[in-house]
Amino acid sequence: MAKDEPRMPVFDLLITNARLPDQSLHMIGVRNGRIVSLDPPEGFDTATETIDIGGRLVLPGLVDGHNHLDTNFLRDVWRSHEPCKDGFNVGERLAIQKKWVMSGAPVEARAAALVERAVSRGTTSMRTHVEIDPDFGLHHLEAILAVRDRYRRAVSIEIVALARGLLVRPGVMELMQAALASGADIVGGLDPAGFEMNVDRHLDGVFALAERYGKGIDLHLHDGGHLGLHTLEQMARRTRAAGLEGQVVASHAYALGEVPLEAMQRTADNLARAGISIMTNAPGDHPFPPVLPLIAAGVNVFAGNDDIRDSWWPYGDGDMLERAMMIGYRSGFFTDDELLVALDMTTANAAQALQLGDYGLKTGAAADFVVVEAANPQEAVVARPIRWAVFKAGRMSARDGVFNPGALR
Ligand SMILES: [Zn+2]
Repeated sequence: MAKDEPRMPVFDLLITNARLPDQSLHMIGVRNGRIVSLDPPEGFDTATETIDIGGRLVLPGLVDGHNHLDTNFLRDVWRSHEPCKDGFNVGERLAIQKKWVMSGAPVEARAAALVERAVSRGTTSMRTHVEIDPDFGLHHLEAILAVRDRYRRAVSIEIVALARGLLVRPGVMELMQAALASGADIVGGLDPAGFEMNVDRHLDGVFALAERYGKGIDLHLHDGGHLGLHTLEQMARRTRAAGLEGQVVASHAYALGEVPLEAMQRTADNLARAGISIMTNAPGDHPFPPVLPLIAAGVNVFAGNDDIRDSWWPYGDGDMLERAMMIGYRSGFFTDDELLVALDMTTANAAQALQLGDYGLKTGAAADFVVVEAANPQEAVVARPIRWAVFKAGRMSARDGVFNPGALR
């Protein structure tokens, strides 16, 4: 090429003056939606589009490892919380949820509102649990599949078919089979003892579905104390027998936080051996899994928002940095290393649980990242700054905390 000929663009997008979490400055070169170069700042490259972010901090895309797009009411009218009449009861909460869903905006509209909010807060991947219930049929799944397709350029959405009563509600097993055959990615179960009244038979059903359809498992486990520990032990045994290591999640697993540390240690070791990940959102005033002892035992612990402005509680807005702060706050995380764990739970740990193979700020990974005004990752957790810019596969999906509809084109 002659010296004065214009250089052809090497990258689709070049981010200059990017400060990575370890404080080093880089240029991030993106081509075909992937990070293909992380050069030092003094290099020179050409690109179709170049954005100088002025030394701002870049974090990997945030991952919401557990939410409920179909039952949130984020942009609906304010709905006053309805407590259970006689203490917390999953069956009664589901009945209240059903009443709200029937009187609310269509599933697709409510889900879209939360997706846009989550993206504006830096989420680039999420796992959502969708109601599989005889009263709804596959309506919720169909709506969420449509939302996933509509927003696929802004966020990756993994769908859990959440069985609301595999044993106690006639028709749910058949609906689960239809859901898994028509787009749901993961088998979801619910309280084998407290809701289904039979731990073994519920787990038989969930694991049989996973094996038949070649899917992973994500089980809502509110069942507490030693009963909950027993269920986790059974999940670990079955996971290893089925060769599903790394593909099984226990969401909430309150039991791990309800028994003395010595009592949960054996279960933690078995969870680690089975590669079972634990999801927590550090909910309200409820005991939740002890994060650091579980990680020390080799268990992958990650975060999700879970309920957002729904019939279960009035909190949340889809922000995973806020969730990291809440988990850190409730866990008593003060040191830099501890605050980094809270962030990891919303980034690398969640990506591991969701088996996102091309994740991270490294060459070859998807170009999913978030630019924030913070000195370091620790400050990002405690200050939850407005997201300066969010990128999904190298496209700017949000700017200054506002979703960019242009990213969908
Ligand atoms: Zn949930």
